[in-house]
Amino acid sequence: MEFKEVYCQNCKKVIGRYNIKFYNDEKINELLKTTHSTHIKNGHQVNIRKFVKD
Ligand SMILES: [Zn+2]
Repeated sequence: MEFKEVYCQNCKKVIGRYNIKFYNDEKINELLKTTHSTHIKNGHQVNIRKFVKD
């Protein structure tokens, strides 16, 4: 299965992991603006990276 992993470089942790089957880029961007907005507001560097798990 393939996931998109949302990683905060400032908090040094994965703040979300989303199965690409159910979450497209648009949906993930939406989550960044809502669920994960506190990191963005605090000026944290948030990256999205691919995560593959069998
Ligand atoms: Zn953060």
